[in-house]
Amino acid sequence: SANRKFHPQDSVIQVGEDKRLVGGGHFAMIAGPCSVESEEQIISVARSVKAAGATMLRGGAFKPRTSPYAFQGLKADGIELLVKAKQATGLPIVTEIMNANHLPLFEDVDVIQVGARNMQNFELLKELGRTRKPILLKRGLANTLQELLMSAEYIMAGGNENVILCERGIRTFETATRNTLDLSAVAALHEMTHLPVIVDPSHATGVARYVKPMAMAAAACGADGLIIEVHNDPPHALCDGAQSLRPEQFVEVAKAVNAIRATV
Ligand code: PEP
Ligand code: MN
Repeated sequence: SANRKFHPQDSVIQVGEDKRLVGGGHFAMIAGPCSVESEEQIISVARSVKAAGATMLRGGAFKPRTSPYAFQGLKADGIELLVKAKQATGLPIVTEIMNANHLPLFEDVDVIQVGARNMQNFELLKELGRTRKPILLKRGLANTLQELLMSAEYIMAGGNENVILCERGIRTFETATRNTLDLSAVAALHEMTHLPVIVDPSHATGVARYVKPMAMAAAACGADGLIIEVHNDPPHALCDGAQSLRPEQFVEVAKAVNAIRATV
């Protein structure tokens, strides 16, 4: 169970072939583009974020876009390019699954992401419970923390205890930001569950210049990691350019986050 009552110690999740740890004092710095766009793009971003201290590479291959006419991702080819980026840098890779039938394509993926829109796709969660891969479970756009934990239970009930929770902002009446980052979720979840809790300041704000302050705030309130969108050329990104950092900006964010972490 995800409940802290039955498991007082923080869970530590092992990621990738070299068993990178997340949770219980081990911080995950996940960075990369919203979407994998080309081999050159993903390998260049992977090299830059690794040099800046990222511990994992993110990149969407199957994209949950609001419009069916928007870029839907490179799909299986995108996963192949992520695997090439892993081979080039040694960074474990994180990518989103939308359909359980695609699971065979995720064999070399180190962390399978369940996006906000699928947080309550219970059949998908049950299938992921049958795997033993770490699952990055994002909070739904309008879901309570209790509902997030019940979704984690769906995965854990199948025997997969490797769940990392992610606060990525929720829908409110505010329009200055894409979503409203609920940082109190980190403190509340740490009481409710032993699972690691990371923060996505990119989707939470939708604005690149707000990513650094929110990443610092997440580190200050005890988050177990961050997932941040970084693109080599944000104005030309095929998805989420407005919230994407250039690699040089990510370097500054990583430094600021590490400075905060040293004080908490
Ligand atoms: C993403 O991480 O690219 C993404 C689509 O995030 P979310 O599911 O939180 O909107
Ligand atoms: Mn995105």
